[in-house]
Parts: sequence; C-alpha cells; structure tokens
Amino acid sequence: MDWYSIRLRAAAGGPHEKGGRHISGAEDLVPETEIEDRLFYFWQKASNHEKGKWDFLQITVEKIDERVQEVSLLPVKLFYPATTVDARKLATELLGRNGITQRQINSAFQLLENPPQDIRGAWVVALDSNRVVRENVRATKFGWNKTTYQQLQEMLTCAGLINTRLSEALALASKVNACSGIVAELCWSDNPEYTTGYVASSRLGYCRLPNFKPIGKGGGRVFWIEKEEQIESVLHWLREVPCLIGGVPILQKEE
Ligand code: AMP
Repeated sequence: MDWYSIRLRAAAGGPHEKGGRHISGAEDLVPETEIEDRLFYFWQKASNHEKGKWDFLQITVEKIDERVQEVSLLPVKLFYPATTVDARKLATELLGRNGITQRQINSAFQLLENPPQDIRGAWVVALDSNRVVRENVRATKFGWNKTTYQQLQEMLTCAGLINTRLSEALALASKVNACSGIVAELCWSDNPEYTTGYVASSRLGYCRLPNFKPIGKGGGRVFWIEKEEQIESVLHWLREVPCLIGGVPILQKEE
C-alpha cells in the first residue's frame, strides 16, 4: 500500500518564516483513500482554533518512498492531580525516574511558561550539556495502524475520554519516545483553555496530567535527549522516518 504524509501549518500576520504568529499545526500518515478526509479535518482544525484566525495556511501532501516502520503505542496512564502544583510535583517525580533532575525539569517548565519567542515545534534539550540544542523541531510522518486506532477509541469511550487531542498527542509521543537517544517528553497544549498535558517516555508510558498549566497560558513541548552529539540522528528519526503506531492499547487509572 502507498502511504502519504500530510502536514499543516497556519499562522497569523504572514507565514512563520516572515514573523507570523503560529496558530495551528498537524500531521498524519495515511493511505491515499483517506487523504481527502484528512485535508478537510486539517482545514477545520486550523480554521476553528482558539488562538485566532489564520491568514497563512499551508498543507503539504507527500508520497512516502521509504519503508514504513511499525512503532508500539505507549501505554496510557491517567493521573488526577487536583491543582497545577500537584500536577507539576507528580511530573517531576515521574521524570525523575528517567534520571532528569529537578533543576532540568524546572528549566523546562520555565521554557513552556515563558517562551522566549513564538514557537511551533519542540525544544530539544540535551541532558549532558543542559543546553537547548534545537528549537521549533516538529515530529512528522506518523499515523495510525487502523485496528489499533479503533481499539483505542473504544477504550477511551468506555473511560469517558473521547477526544481527538489525546489520540493525536499519543501518536506523536509514541513516535518521539521510540527514538533512540530521546529520554522523555513534556507537553502542554497551545489552546489557552485546555490545561491538560502529559509527560512521556518509553519507560513511563504516556502519563496524562490534568491541570498541568494555569488556564489562559500557551503551550509547548520539550524533548530531552541523552547526549548533544545524538542530535542529528534524533532529528532524522523525528522528521524523516515514516512510522505507523500499532499494538494493543493499554489504559490504566493511577491513584
Ligand atoms: P498542541 O498540543 O497541538 O497544542 O501543541 C502544543 C505545542 O507543542 C505547540 O505549540 C508546538 O510547540 C508543539 N508541537 C505541536 N505539534 C508538534 C510536533 N508534531 N512536533 C513537535 N512539537 C510539536
């Protein structure tokens, strides 16, 4: 079967590279028969965004020539912190299990809370040098194994959690954290009203954290890599290697 990568970016005040403010981005990897549906969905997503109205929108569709790899879906763990303080404490404890220090985690919270510039991709931070090695890195070329996606939707519906945000973030986190060299990821959403975020790693799974940011704030992502010297192979994985997210979905409620 032929696969196609679809990417969207939308901005206000001109294209991103001419100083436009990021409004919306999205990516998927689909067979030809699904391109039309996804184009419509991407169009709607960008055109009804809480961040405002776009005046620049670009959708790129590319046929994939490389072999598509299968990557396992991360298990989903549902946590229920009552406040932002509790959510960050929990995130710090979870990320600490991956060897990330409290200082490194606080720096990442700072980056997301007070971004030095408008951002539309992730900050890649090296744990050996404590440096932001790249910014605005977008993971692309990932999509769903259809059976896995359907099973996941059934599971999420049973848990009263049906929302496309979780599925989209979970697919992204599954590709990102399958990368050799990536230690963990931190994310909260761009949508000012959506305060749920997550931390993820191949060891932790996808840990969903409500109340992760105060209402009204923007969002972002941090990918921590082990060593700065791994950056080129990490970027290659994130941007170039086509992946389908497969396997059996797992959903756990944590106390
Ligand atoms: P969202 O969950 O779509 O609200 O995205 C929150 C933030 O995560 C965005 O502002 C971007 O900085 C970052 N982000 C979104 N999509 C990607 C992606 N595909 N790869 C890397 N970072 C992303």
